[in-house]
Amino acid sequence: METTLRGVGVSHGVAIGEVRHMGTAMLEPPAERIPAEEAEREQGRARRAVEAVAADLIARGNLAGGEAQGVLEAQAMMAQDPELMADVDRRIAVGSTAERGVYDAFASYRALLANAGEYLAGRVADLDDVRNRIVARLLGVPMPGVPDSDEPFVLIARDLAPADTALLDPALVLGFVTEEGGPTSHSAILARALGVPAVVALPGAQQLAEGTVIAVDGSTGDIFVEPSRAKRAELEQAAIARKAALSASTGPGATSDGHTVPLLANIGGPADVPAAVEAGAEGVGLFRTEFLFLDDSERAPSEEKQIEAYRTVLRAFPEGRVVVRVLDAGADKPLAFLTPADEPNPALGVRGLRSLLDHPEVLRTQLTALAKAAEGLPVHLEVMAPMVADRTDAKAFADACREAGLGAKFGAMVEIPSAALRSRSILQEVEFLSLGTNDLAQYTFAADRQVGAVSRLQDPWQPALLDLVALAAEGARAEGRSCGVCGEAASDPLLACVLTGLGVTSLSMGAASIPYVRSALAQHTLAQCERAAAAARAADTADEARTAARAVLSGE
Ligand code: PEP
Ligand code: MG
Repeated sequence: METTLRGVGVSHGVAIGEVRHMGTAMLEPPAERIPAEEAEREQGRARRAVEAVAADLIARGNLAGGEAQGVLEAQAMMAQDPELMADVDRRIAVGSTAERGVYDAFASYRALLANAGEYLAGRVADLDDVRNRIVARLLGVPMPGVPDSDEPFVLIARDLAPADTALLDPALVLGFVTEEGGPTSHSAILARALGVPAVVALPGAQQLAEGTVIAVDGSTGDIFVEPSRAKRAELEQAAIARKAALSASTGPGATSDGHTVPLLANIGGPADVPAAVEAGAEGVGLFRTEFLFLDDSERAPSEEKQIEAYRTVLRAFPEGRVVVRVLDAGADKPLAFLTPADEPNPALGVRGLRSLLDHPEVLRTQLTALAKAAEGLPVHLEVMAPMVADRTDAKAFADACREAGLGAKFGAMVEIPSAALRSRSILQEVEFLSLGTNDLAQYTFAADRQVGAVSRLQDPWQPALLDLVALAAEGARAEGRSCGVCGEAASDPLLACVLTGLGVTSLSMGAASIPYVRSALAQHTLAQCERAAAAARAADTADEARTAARAVLSGE
């Protein structure tokens, strides 16, 4: 029977497909003992699991071909190594369960490999993967990490970190549902970047059985479990109609009376550029460069590698505006070589610009790479710093940009309430502001953006957040400077109108949201947007603010 669950819709569209769970990394089986008479049965279970995993690896290898086939076949051989199997049998014979016997036998083999020279030590990760596959099979739980599937699926997870999702094949993920996370969590950001529907903060998401068919409505936050044929058809038709209406809206962002609001794209790297261009982005409003740094946790990417990535992006927007954010490491985006491991409260610790000022060589390399990447290109390069708290921070960043000989505009992100309160002071040092409403909400409401339980406070419609946006925008206007929004707030079409009414000068969002926002702006005048903004600020709660703005904009 069809049931409906409700979470928070964070990425538009409808996805219908089978549920696959993101496996947890916690695969150490309990160290229970079994009586001697069960040993033979457990040995049989272990053998069957090993054989099934080996067969699966070989089948995958055949499908993949090329280099991957060799790697997968080598893994299958590891799984069936006779000495390893003999050790598993021995351990079960003296009281281990099958899963514990496999786990411990692999652990001692792993220690041998790790100390046996560079080549074999390099195979440890493959061995761990084989062990995880066998143990997961024995425990009847999903494999850790991204699920293996040849068919497209809806991904269910507690939450998704950037490192988890780096391996996702966008062709296979129809949509996301997460138990944790708010509208500004990385799951939400990634879903928008991929252009797939997503719902976050859905209590009980992880209880949805593997293989269940669900329909995800990323606009409303509704999840239909085992949807009827009629419901599927209804959802699919609504999605097609919405798409058709959207494709009719093109051109630069503007209100119906011609007040322009450039619509820019948030990107994580060159791979996101084609979607941004296709959506008609007028440039890039936030290039999150930390994704370039995820490949190697020990060191920053070389200057050459950075130049290449930056140049690819800059070339895609000739004459356009590209705002690059320097590395924002720490808190929800830790990097081993930069982020202190022992911070009691990482979100309030050395992150963002603070971390770069502690490691000036990393900042210098990045700024130099940007300067070189922009050489000879007609692009309007702008560079901004994350987590600027005050004028001292802004000055330190501007000094670093000048020292690197960067011919670009320098700006500051407004993510900390102090920066919104003192926007005019910050603008004595830098030339533009960009509101990071995700972190601004986190710090205004003392509500961790990764915790689903406080997603109410992460709602960008919270009137206190709107007050801070208005304050920063007023400060920028008084200084004759621009003040955009690049947080997720900009991707909500109704809120985009309100932000425009608050005085924000550009909106940057995941490419998939651009048509929705363009179409909403085009339906209202600036004066209507201003009235909607005033009505939202006069409300006491996020829900009331949303309702009040909707009433103004729909002329109710
Ligand atoms: C923000 O905080 O709003 C922002 C745009 O930066 P990020 O989401 O990458 O922290
Ligand atoms: Mg931020």
